[in-house]
Amino acid sequence: MPTYQADAIVLRRLDYGEADRILTLLTREHGKLAAIAKGARRAKARSAGSLDLFARSRMMLAKGRNLDVVAQVERRGDVRHISGDLQRTAYACLVSEIVDKVLEDRHPVDEVFDLVVETLDRLNAVDRSPRADSAWFLMRILDQLGYLPQLQDCPGCGQPLPEASAWFSPLLGGVLCKACGAHDQAGSALSVNSLKVLRLMAADDGEMYGRLRITAELLDEIEDALEAQLEYHLDRRLKSLEFIRSLRH
Ligand SMILES: [Zn+2]
Repeated sequence: MPTYQADAIVLRRLDYGEADRILTLLTREHGKLAAIAKGARRAKARSAGSLDLFARSRMMLAKGRNLDVVAQVERRGDVRHISGDLQRTAYACLVSEIVDKVLEDRHPVDEVFDLVVETLDRLNAVDRSPRADSAWFLMRILDQLGYLPQLQDCPGCGQPLPEASAWFSPLLGGVLCKACGAHDQAGSALSVNSLKVLRLMAADDGEMYGRLRITAELLDEIEDALEAQLEYHLDRRLKSLEFIRSLRH
């Protein structure tokens, strides 16, 4: 069987048969693909741990008739702080659900691979805020998809937005001035400080974003806006978001 190498992250996994697992992998070289890990659920499996959810490995895969087969795994880094924490796991699930939805099979996108690696590393760092890091991921993936929200001029009337509290409209894809916001049913309120943070995120200023102390109230507004924008463009509810929302309340 012909083989190939891949730098791979486990996005999803499904028990299969007696002892196998079917994996959805995000690879740098070949994009998203499904593969089978034979015997992965046996207690003494050599791959155990390396094929944990969200784990990154150097893999050798063999071309199969239906699914490619994981032939060798060499673990890179660890994800134990994600695995050991419900909230971090929930945000990592959100990342993997979104990436799984937006990427086509076997279409590698370097920027998305790098973004996922960076986000999972951050979610695994106990001194970081998983909410702030996942919000950053949402803005960056919106940028990748070409759905950056409009944050300078009101998409309703075209006027530059004043430095004031406003309204986020996923329908119109951006922040509405107060007057236009009054006619929008589906959006959410946005304080002037949240608008400033969103602008910084949209400008890809990660350094400044990392230095901000973002309060829970601001994060609520920022998450509401970015999640609504993404769900609107994907035209579907994200399952992991429903779970995250239930954790928040
Ligand atoms: Zn307006």
